[in-house]
Amino acid sequence: MGDEKKIPEGQTPPDASHDSPWETALAQLDEAAELMGLAPGVHEILRVPKRSLIVSVPFRMDDGSTRVYQGTRVHHNVTRGPAKGGIRYHPDMGFDETKALAMWMTWKCAVVDIPFGGAKGGVAVDPREHTRAELERMTRRYASEILPFIGPERDIPAPDMNTDEEIMAWIMDTYSQNQGYSVPGVVTGKPVSIGGSKGRGGATSRGVMYTIFSTLKRLGLGIEEVSVAIQGHGKVGGFLGQLLHDAGCRVVAISDVGGGLYKERGLDPEAINRHKREAGSVVGYPGADPITNEELLQVDCDVLIPAAIESVITVKNADRIRARVVCEAANGPITFEADRILVDRGIFVVPDILANSGGVTVSYFEWVQDIQAYFWTEEEVNDRLRLIMERSFDAVYDLAEAKGLTMRQAAHWIGVGRVAEAHLTRGLFP
Ligand code: NAD
Repeated sequence: MGDEKKIPEGQTPPDASHDSPWETALAQLDEAAELMGLAPGVHEILRVPKRSLIVSVPFRMDDGSTRVYQGTRVHHNVTRGPAKGGIRYHPDMGFDETKALAMWMTWKCAVVDIPFGGAKGGVAVDPREHTRAELERMTRRYASEILPFIGPERDIPAPDMNTDEEIMAWIMDTYSQNQGYSVPGVVTGKPVSIGGSKGRGGATSRGVMYTIFSTLKRLGLGIEEVSVAIQGHGKVGGFLGQLLHDAGCRVVAISDVGGGLYKERGLDPEAINRHKREAGSVVGYPGADPITNEELLQVDCDVLIPAAIESVITVKNADRIRARVVCEAANGPITFEADRILVDRGIFVVPDILANSGGVTVSYFEWVQDIQAYFWTEEEVNDRLRLIMERSFDAVYDLAEAKGLTMRQAAHWIGVGRVAEAHLTRGLFP
Protein backbone atom coordinates (compact mmCIF):
# COMPACT_ATOMS: atom_id res chain seq x y z
CA MET A 1 0.00 0.00 0.00
CA GLY A 2 1.03 3.56 -0.49
CA ASP A 3 4.00 2.82 -2.75
CA GLU A 4 2.63 4.64 -5.74
CA LYS A 5 1.27 8.15 -6.19
CA LYS A 6 -2.07 8.08 -7.93
CA ILE A 7 -2.16 10.56 -10.76
CA PRO A 8 -4.81 9.61 -13.31
CA GLU A 9 -3.32 8.52 -16.64
CA GLY A 10 -2.74 11.24 -19.15
CA GLN A 11 -2.82 13.98 -16.53
CA THR A 12 0.25 15.86 -15.47
CA PRO A 13 1.04 16.26 -11.79
CA PRO A 14 0.57 19.73 -10.33
CA ASP A 15 3.51 22.03 -10.82
CA ALA A 16 5.73 22.01 -7.78
CA SER A 17 9.12 22.91 -9.10
CA HIS A 18 9.81 25.09 -6.06
CA ASP A 19 10.38 24.16 -2.47
CA SER A 20 8.53 26.88 -0.57
CA PRO A 21 5.89 25.79 1.95
CA TRP A 22 3.16 27.78 0.15
CA GLU A 23 3.92 26.12 -3.19
CA THR A 24 4.00 22.73 -1.46
CA ALA A 25 0.65 23.41 0.25
CA LEU A 26 -0.97 24.52 -3.02
CA ALA A 27 0.42 21.56 -4.95
CA GLN A 28 -0.95 19.18 -2.29
CA LEU A 29 -4.39 20.81 -2.47
CA ASP A 30 -4.41 20.78 -6.27
CA GLU A 31 -3.46 17.13 -6.33
CA ALA A 32 -6.19 16.23 -3.81
CA ALA A 33 -8.74 18.26 -5.78
CA GLU A 34 -7.86 16.40 -8.94
CA LEU A 35 -7.93 12.97 -7.32
CA MET A 36 -11.28 13.49 -5.59
CA GLY A 37 -12.94 15.48 -8.37
CA LEU A 38 -13.48 18.51 -6.16
CA ALA A 39 -16.04 21.08 -7.37
CA PRO A 40 -13.99 23.77 -9.20
CA GLY A 41 -15.65 26.69 -7.36
CA VAL A 42 -14.84 25.25 -3.95
CA HIS A 43 -11.31 24.44 -5.10
CA GLU A 44 -10.82 28.08 -6.12
CA ILE A 45 -12.11 29.29 -2.75
CA LEU A 46 -9.82 26.94 -0.85
CA ARG A 47 -6.69 28.03 -2.75
CA VAL A 48 -6.89 31.49 -1.18
CA PRO A 49 -6.86 32.45 2.52
CA LYS A 50 -10.15 33.94 3.73
CA ARG A 51 -8.51 36.94 5.37
CA SER A 52 -5.00 38.06 6.24
CA LEU A 53 -3.55 40.69 8.49
CA ILE A 54 -0.05 42.13 8.34
CA VAL A 55 0.80 44.31 11.30
CA SER A 56 3.67 46.41 12.50
CA VAL A 57 4.85 45.49 15.99
CA PRO A 58 6.76 48.34 17.65
CA PHE A 59 7.97 47.86 21.21
CA ARG A 60 10.43 49.32 23.69
CA MET A 61 13.77 47.61 24.27
CA ASP A 62 15.24 47.43 27.78
CA ASP A 63 17.68 50.25 26.91
CA GLY A 64 14.80 52.60 25.99
CA SER A 65 15.23 52.37 22.20
CA THR A 66 12.42 51.23 19.87
CA ARG A 67 12.36 48.09 17.74
CA VAL A 68 9.78 47.32 15.02
CA TYR A 69 9.02 43.87 13.60
CA GLN A 70 6.44 42.60 11.17
CA GLY A 71 3.64 40.38 12.47
CA THR A 72 1.05 38.34 10.58
CA ARG A 73 -2.19 36.49 11.25
CA VAL A 74 -3.90 34.55 8.49
CA HIS A 75 -7.30 32.85 8.57
CA HIS A 76 -7.26 30.30 5.80
CA ASN A 77 -10.79 29.01 6.36
CA VAL A 78 -13.50 29.30 9.03
CA THR A 79 -16.33 27.38 7.39
CA ARG A 80 -16.36 24.54 9.96
CA GLY A 81 -15.79 26.76 13.02
CA PRO A 82 -13.46 29.39 14.53
CA ALA A 83 -9.96 29.66 13.08
CA LYS A 84 -7.30 27.76 15.02
CA GLY A 85 -3.53 27.82 14.73
CA GLY A 86 -0.25 28.57 16.39
CA ILE A 87 1.81 31.70 16.80
CA ARG A 88 5.44 31.40 15.74
CA TYR A 89 8.38 33.65 16.53
CA HIS A 90 11.04 33.13 13.87
CA PRO A 91 13.23 35.53 11.88
CA ASP A 92 12.11 33.96 8.57
CA MET A 93 8.38 34.13 9.42
CA GLY A 94 7.01 35.60 6.19
CA PHE A 95 3.53 36.00 4.78
CA ASP A 96 3.70 33.06 2.33
CA GLU A 97 4.88 30.70 5.03
CA THR A 98 2.04 31.84 7.29
CA LYS A 99 -0.49 31.19 4.51
CA ALA A 100 0.83 27.63 4.04
CA LEU A 101 0.76 26.87 7.75
CA ALA A 102 -2.80 28.27 8.01
CA MET A 103 -3.97 26.09 5.11
CA TRP A 104 -2.46 22.97 6.70
CA MET A 105 -4.30 23.85 9.93
CA THR A 106 -7.62 23.82 8.04
CA TRP A 107 -7.00 20.30 6.73
CA LYS A 108 -5.60 19.10 10.06
CA CYS A 109 -8.66 20.15 12.04
CA ALA A 110 -10.87 18.49 9.45
CA VAL A 111 -8.84 15.25 9.36
CA VAL A 112 -9.35 14.76 13.11
CA ASP A 113 -12.89 16.12 12.72
CA ILE A 114 -12.78 18.92 15.27
CA PRO A 115 -14.99 21.96 14.58
CA PHE A 116 -12.28 24.51 13.76
CA GLY A 117 -10.94 26.23 10.67
CA GLY A 118 -7.28 27.00 10.02
CA ALA A 119 -5.12 29.96 11.04
CA LYS A 120 -1.50 30.80 11.69
CA GLY A 121 0.44 33.84 12.71
CA GLY A 122 3.65 35.08 14.08
CA VAL A 123 6.32 37.70 14.32
CA ALA A 124 9.50 37.82 12.23
CA VAL A 125 11.77 37.96 15.26
CA ASP A 126 14.71 35.99 16.59
CA PRO A 127 13.66 35.61 20.23
CA ARG A 128 17.24 34.77 21.23
CA GLU A 129 18.12 38.44 20.64
CA HIS A 130 15.67 39.62 23.31
CA THR A 131 15.18 39.52 27.04
CA ARG A 132 12.01 38.04 28.45
CA ALA A 133 10.78 41.56 29.34
CA GLU A 134 11.27 42.69 25.73
CA LEU A 135 9.44 39.60 24.47
CA GLU A 136 6.55 40.33 26.83
CA ARG A 137 6.19 43.92 25.54
CA MET A 138 6.46 42.68 21.94
CA THR A 139 3.90 39.91 22.54
CA ARG A 140 1.41 42.27 24.18
CA ARG A 141 1.75 44.74 21.30
CA TYR A 142 1.37 41.99 18.70
CA ALA A 143 -1.70 40.69 20.58
CA SER A 144 -3.17 44.23 20.61
CA GLU A 145 -2.58 44.59 16.86
CA ILE A 146 -4.39 41.32 16.04
CA LEU A 147 -7.08 41.84 18.70
CA PRO A 148 -9.95 42.41 16.23
CA PHE A 149 -9.04 39.10 14.55
CA ILE A 150 -9.00 36.83 17.60
CA GLY A 151 -11.49 35.64 20.25
CA PRO A 152 -13.01 32.36 21.44
CA GLU A 153 -15.57 32.42 18.63
CA ARG A 154 -13.30 33.89 15.95
CA ASP A 155 -9.73 32.64 16.17
CA ILE A 156 -7.93 30.88 19.00
CA PRO A 157 -4.10 31.09 18.87
CA ALA A 158 -1.77 28.49 20.43
CA PRO A 159 1.99 27.97 20.86
CA ASP A 160 4.24 27.06 17.94
CA MET A 161 7.97 27.43 17.31
CA ASN A 162 9.61 29.64 19.94
CA THR A 163 6.36 30.43 21.74
CA ASP A 164 5.27 28.83 24.99
CA GLU A 165 2.59 28.83 27.68
CA GLU A 166 3.87 32.03 29.29
CA ILE A 167 3.51 33.84 25.95
CA MET A 168 -0.04 32.45 25.69
CA ALA A 169 -0.71 33.82 29.20
CA TRP A 170 0.40 37.31 28.06
CA ILE A 171 -1.91 37.12 25.04
CA MET A 172 -4.82 35.92 27.20
CA ASP A 173 -4.17 38.73 29.66
CA THR A 174 -3.87 41.42 26.96
CA TYR A 175 -7.14 40.28 25.37
CA SER A 176 -8.89 40.05 28.76
CA GLN A 177 -7.71 43.53 29.84
CA ASN A 178 -9.29 44.94 26.70
CA GLN A 179 -12.57 43.11 27.29
CA GLY A 180 -12.71 43.99 30.98
CA TYR A 181 -13.14 40.38 32.11
CA SER A 182 -11.18 37.13 31.90
CA VAL A 183 -11.46 35.27 28.60
CA PRO A 184 -9.51 32.02 28.99
CA GLY A 185 -10.91 30.56 25.74
CA VAL A 186 -9.08 33.11 23.56
CA VAL A 187 -5.88 31.02 23.49
CA THR A 188 -4.93 27.41 24.15
CA GLY A 189 -1.67 26.01 25.42
CA LYS A 190 -1.80 28.39 28.38
CA PRO A 191 -0.87 27.49 31.98
CA VAL A 192 -3.34 25.29 33.89
CA SER A 193 -3.65 28.03 36.57
CA ILE A 194 -5.54 30.27 34.10
CA GLY A 195 -7.66 27.68 32.31
CA GLY A 196 -5.11 25.57 30.44
CA SER A 197 -5.76 21.88 29.93
CA LYS A 198 -3.90 19.15 31.70
CA GLY A 199 -1.94 17.19 29.10
CA ARG A 200 -1.74 20.02 26.53
CA GLY A 201 2.02 20.51 26.94
CA GLY A 202 2.84 17.00 25.75
CA ALA A 203 -0.16 16.50 23.48
CA THR A 204 1.53 16.94 20.10
CA SER A 205 4.35 14.55 21.05
CA ARG A 206 1.89 12.05 22.51
CA GLY A 207 -0.23 12.25 19.34
CA VAL A 208 2.85 11.61 17.16
CA MET A 209 3.67 8.61 19.35
CA TYR A 210 0.16 7.13 18.98
CA THR A 211 0.44 7.65 15.21
CA ILE A 212 3.79 5.85 15.14
CA PHE A 213 2.32 2.97 17.15
CA SER A 214 -0.58 2.69 14.67
CA THR A 215 1.90 2.77 11.77
CA LEU A 216 4.10 0.06 13.27
CA LYS A 217 1.07 -2.12 13.91
CA ARG A 218 -0.04 -1.87 10.28
CA LEU A 219 3.50 -2.53 9.05
CA GLY A 220 3.88 -5.52 11.36
CA LEU A 221 6.75 -4.03 13.38
CA GLY A 222 7.13 -4.22 17.16
CA ILE A 223 7.66 -1.02 19.15
CA GLU A 224 10.75 -2.43 20.82
CA GLU A 225 12.32 -3.49 17.52
CA VAL A 226 12.56 -0.04 15.98
CA SER A 227 15.21 2.65 15.93
CA VAL A 228 14.21 6.30 15.73
CA ALA A 229 15.90 9.57 14.68
CA ILE A 230 14.34 12.92 15.66
CA GLN A 231 15.27 16.29 14.17
CA GLY A 232 14.35 19.14 16.53
CA HIS A 233 14.53 19.03 20.31
CA GLY A 234 11.84 21.55 21.20
CA LYS A 235 8.41 21.19 22.73
CA VAL A 236 7.48 18.45 20.27
CA GLY A 237 10.76 16.64 19.51
CA GLY A 238 12.23 16.82 23.03
CA PHE A 239 9.31 15.18 24.82
CA LEU A 240 8.72 12.75 21.94
CA GLY A 241 12.25 11.37 22.34
CA GLN A 242 11.54 10.69 26.00
CA LEU A 243 8.14 9.11 25.28
CA LEU A 244 9.49 6.79 22.57
CA HIS A 245 12.48 5.83 24.70
CA ASP A 246 10.16 5.02 27.63
CA ALA A 247 7.97 2.96 25.28
CA GLY A 248 10.99 0.82 24.35
CA CYS A 249 12.15 2.31 21.03
CA ARG A 250 15.87 2.87 20.44
CA VAL A 251 16.36 6.62 19.89
CA VAL A 252 19.60 6.69 17.87
CA ALA A 253 19.77 10.35 16.83
CA ILE A 254 18.45 13.71 17.96
CA SER A 255 19.30 17.32 17.12
CA ASP A 256 18.49 20.96 17.65
CA VAL A 257 19.32 24.01 15.56
CA GLY A 258 22.98 23.82 16.67
CA GLY A 259 23.61 20.23 15.54
CA GLY A 260 22.89 16.62 16.42
CA LEU A 261 23.95 13.51 18.30
CA TYR A 262 24.16 9.89 17.17
CA LYS A 263 24.57 6.65 19.06
CA GLU A 264 23.77 3.35 17.39
CA ARG A 265 23.01 1.53 20.66
CA GLY A 266 20.53 4.25 21.66
CA LEU A 267 20.69 7.61 23.41
CA ASP A 268 19.50 8.38 26.93
CA PRO A 269 16.98 11.24 26.44
CA GLU A 270 16.85 12.04 30.14
CA ALA A 271 20.63 12.53 30.35
CA ILE A 272 20.49 14.68 27.20
CA ASN A 273 17.71 16.80 28.70
CA ARG A 274 19.87 17.36 31.78
CA HIS A 275 22.81 18.39 29.57
CA LYS A 276 20.56 20.73 27.57
CA ARG A 277 19.22 22.44 30.70
CA GLU A 278 22.81 23.36 31.63
CA ALA A 279 24.36 23.95 28.19
CA GLY A 280 21.30 25.40 26.40
CA SER A 281 21.66 22.88 23.56
CA VAL A 282 21.95 19.15 22.98
CA VAL A 283 25.30 19.91 21.30
CA GLY A 284 28.33 18.96 23.38
CA TYR A 285 26.63 16.04 25.16
CA PRO A 286 29.58 13.76 25.85
CA GLY A 287 27.94 10.31 25.49
CA ALA A 288 27.36 10.32 21.70
CA ASP A 289 28.94 11.16 18.34
CA PRO A 290 28.27 14.66 16.97
CA ILE A 291 26.45 14.82 13.61
CA THR A 292 25.01 17.62 11.52
CA ASN A 293 21.28 18.15 10.96
CA GLU A 294 21.73 17.02 7.36
CA GLU A 295 23.44 13.82 8.51
CA LEU A 296 20.65 13.18 11.00
CA LEU A 297 18.11 13.01 8.18
CA GLN A 298 20.20 10.35 6.48
CA VAL A 299 20.98 8.03 9.41
CA ASP A 300 20.15 4.37 9.16
CA CYS A 301 16.96 4.00 11.24
CA ASP A 302 13.43 2.62 11.04
CA VAL A 303 11.51 5.81 11.81
CA LEU A 304 12.71 9.31 10.93
CA ILE A 305 10.83 12.14 12.62
CA PRO A 306 11.42 15.69 11.38
CA ALA A 307 10.21 17.83 14.31
CA ALA A 308 11.79 21.22 13.57
CA ILE A 309 11.02 23.32 10.49
CA GLU A 310 9.65 23.15 6.94
CA SER A 311 11.31 21.96 3.74
CA VAL A 312 14.19 19.97 5.25
CA ILE A 313 13.64 16.98 2.92
CA THR A 314 13.85 18.18 -0.66
CA VAL A 315 14.81 16.77 -4.07
CA LYS A 316 18.42 17.31 -3.01
CA ASN A 317 18.41 14.74 -0.19
CA ALA A 318 15.24 12.64 -0.64
CA ASP A 319 17.11 9.79 -2.35
CA ARG A 320 19.50 9.57 0.61
CA ILE A 321 16.84 9.06 3.31
CA ARG A 322 17.32 5.56 4.69
CA ALA A 323 14.38 5.28 7.11
CA ARG A 324 11.49 2.88 6.40
CA VAL A 325 8.97 5.34 7.84
CA VAL A 326 9.06 9.15 7.88
CA CYS A 327 6.59 10.63 10.36
CA GLU A 328 6.09 14.38 10.03
CA ALA A 329 5.95 15.88 13.52
CA ALA A 330 6.90 19.28 12.04
CA ASN A 331 4.62 21.05 9.60
CA GLY A 332 5.68 20.75 5.97
CA PRO A 333 9.16 19.19 6.43
CA ILE A 334 8.95 17.38 3.05
CA THR A 335 8.52 19.32 -0.18
CA PHE A 336 5.98 18.13 -2.75
CA GLU A 337 8.54 16.65 -5.14
CA ALA A 338 10.61 15.09 -2.36
CA ASP A 339 7.48 13.39 -1.04
CA ARG A 340 7.04 11.78 -4.42
CA ILE A 341 10.62 10.48 -4.37
CA LEU A 342 10.21 9.00 -0.88
CA VAL A 343 6.96 7.27 -1.79
CA ASP A 344 8.43 5.94 -5.05
CA ARG A 345 11.25 4.48 -2.99
CA GLY A 346 8.70 2.60 -0.85
CA ILE A 347 9.12 4.77 2.25
CA PHE A 348 5.92 5.03 4.31
CA VAL A 349 5.27 8.74 4.91
CA VAL A 350 2.84 9.78 7.64
CA PRO A 351 1.75 13.33 6.78
CA ASP A 352 1.87 16.28 9.19
CA ILE A 353 -1.87 17.00 9.02
CA LEU A 354 -2.43 13.58 10.59
CA ALA A 355 0.74 12.92 12.60
CA ASN A 356 1.01 16.17 14.56
CA SER A 357 -2.72 16.79 15.04
CA GLY A 358 -2.56 15.78 18.72
CA GLY A 359 -1.69 19.36 19.68
CA VAL A 360 -4.73 20.94 18.09
CA THR A 361 -6.91 18.09 19.33
CA VAL A 362 -6.05 18.82 22.96
CA SER A 363 -6.28 22.55 22.18
CA TYR A 364 -9.87 21.79 21.20
CA PHE A 365 -10.34 19.96 24.52
CA GLU A 366 -8.90 23.04 26.30
CA TRP A 367 -11.28 25.40 24.50
CA VAL A 368 -14.24 23.13 25.34
CA GLN A 369 -13.18 23.04 29.01
CA ASP A 370 -12.78 26.86 29.10
CA ILE A 371 -16.19 27.45 27.56
CA GLN A 372 -17.86 25.01 29.96
CA ALA A 373 -15.67 26.08 32.92
CA TYR A 374 -15.43 22.39 33.71
CA PHE A 375 -12.04 20.72 33.70
CA TRP A 376 -10.96 17.17 32.92
CA THR A 377 -8.32 14.92 34.48
CA GLU A 378 -5.10 14.29 32.58
CA GLU A 379 -6.14 10.69 32.13
CA GLU A 380 -9.40 11.76 30.46
CA VAL A 381 -7.47 14.09 28.15
CA ASN A 382 -4.92 11.45 27.14
CA ASP A 383 -7.55 8.73 26.66
CA ARG A 384 -9.71 10.94 24.43
CA LEU A 385 -6.62 12.05 22.50
CA ARG A 386 -5.59 8.47 21.89
CA LEU A 387 -9.07 7.58 20.66
CA ILE A 388 -9.11 10.46 18.15
CA MET A 389 -5.57 9.79 16.91
CA GLU A 390 -6.22 6.07 16.39
CA ARG A 391 -9.60 6.66 14.75
CA SER A 392 -8.14 9.30 12.41
CA PHE A 393 -5.13 7.16 11.50
CA ASP A 394 -7.35 4.18 10.72
CA ALA A 395 -9.67 6.29 8.54
CA VAL A 396 -6.73 7.66 6.53
CA TYR A 397 -5.03 4.27 6.23
CA ASP A 398 -8.21 2.50 5.17
CA LEU A 399 -8.99 5.15 2.53
CA ALA A 400 -5.42 4.94 1.22
CA GLU A 401 -5.76 1.16 0.94
CA ALA A 402 -9.18 1.30 -0.67
CA LYS A 403 -8.30 3.90 -3.31
CA GLY A 404 -4.60 3.16 -3.85
CA LEU A 405 -3.52 6.53 -2.45
CA THR A 406 -0.56 7.59 -0.37
CA MET A 407 -1.24 8.46 3.29
CA ARG A 408 -0.85 12.17 2.42
CA GLN A 409 -3.28 11.98 -0.47
CA ALA A 410 -5.79 10.11 1.70
CA ALA A 411 -5.44 12.59 4.59
CA HIS A 412 -5.97 15.51 2.19
CA TRP A 413 -8.92 13.71 0.59
CA ILE A 414 -10.59 13.42 4.01
CA GLY A 415 -9.60 16.91 5.24
CA VAL A 416 -10.35 18.81 2.05
CA GLY A 417 -13.49 16.72 1.57
CA ARG A 418 -14.95 17.70 4.95
CA VAL A 419 -14.24 21.39 4.38
CA ALA A 420 -15.70 21.22 0.87
CA GLU A 421 -18.81 19.51 2.18
CA ALA A 422 -19.27 22.31 4.72
CA HIS A 423 -18.93 24.91 1.95
CA LEU A 424 -21.42 23.17 -0.29
CA THR A 425 -23.87 22.66 2.59
CA ARG A 426 -23.74 26.32 3.64
CA GLY A 427 -23.83 27.65 0.07
CA LEU A 428 -22.06 30.68 -1.34
CA PHE A 429 -22.95 34.02 0.24
CA PRO A 430 -24.76 36.15 -0.90
P1 NAD B 1 10.16 24.66 19.38
O1 NAD B 1 10.53 26.06 19.10
O2 NAD B 1 9.76 24.28 20.77
O3 NAD B 1 11.36 23.69 18.94
C1 NAD B 1 11.92 23.72 17.65
C2 NAD B 1 13.15 22.85 17.65
O4 NAD B 1 13.69 22.83 16.32
C3 NAD B 1 14.29 23.38 18.54
O5 NAD B 1 14.97 22.29 19.13
C4 NAD B 1 15.20 24.10 17.56
O6 NAD B 1 16.54 24.17 18.01
C5 NAD B 1 15.07 23.21 16.34
N1 NAD B 1 15.39 23.88 15.09
C6 NAD B 1 15.06 25.14 14.71
N2 NAD B 1 15.55 25.40 13.49
C7 NAD B 1 16.20 24.28 13.10
C8 NAD B 1 16.92 23.93 11.94
N3 NAD B 1 17.10 24.80 10.94
N4 NAD B 1 17.44 22.68 11.86
C9 NAD B 1 17.27 21.80 12.88
N5 NAD B 1 16.62 22.09 14.00
C10 NAD B 1 16.08 23.31 14.10
O7 NAD B 1 8.99 24.30 18.35
P2 NAD B 1 7.91 23.14 18.45
O8 NAD B 1 6.68 23.69 19.06
O9 NAD B 1 8.55 21.90 19.01
O10 NAD B 1 7.57 22.93 16.90
C11 NAD B 1 8.36 22.13 16.07
C12 NAD B 1 7.57 21.81 14.79
O11 NAD B 1 6.37 21.12 15.15
C13 NAD B 1 7.12 23.02 13.98
O12 NAD B 1 7.10 22.67 12.62
C14 NAD B 1 5.71 23.25 14.45
O13 NAD B 1 4.93 23.96 13.52
C15 NAD B 1 5.26 21.82 14.61
N6 NAD B 1 4.11 21.65 15.49
C16 NAD B 1 4.14 22.08 16.77
C17 NAD B 1 3.03 21.90 17.59
C18 NAD B 1 3.03 22.30 19.03
O14 NAD B 1 2.06 21.96 19.74
N7 NAD B 1 4.07 22.94 19.56
C19 NAD B 1 1.87 21.30 17.06
C20 NAD B 1 1.88 20.86 15.74
C21 NAD B 1 3.00 21.04 14.97
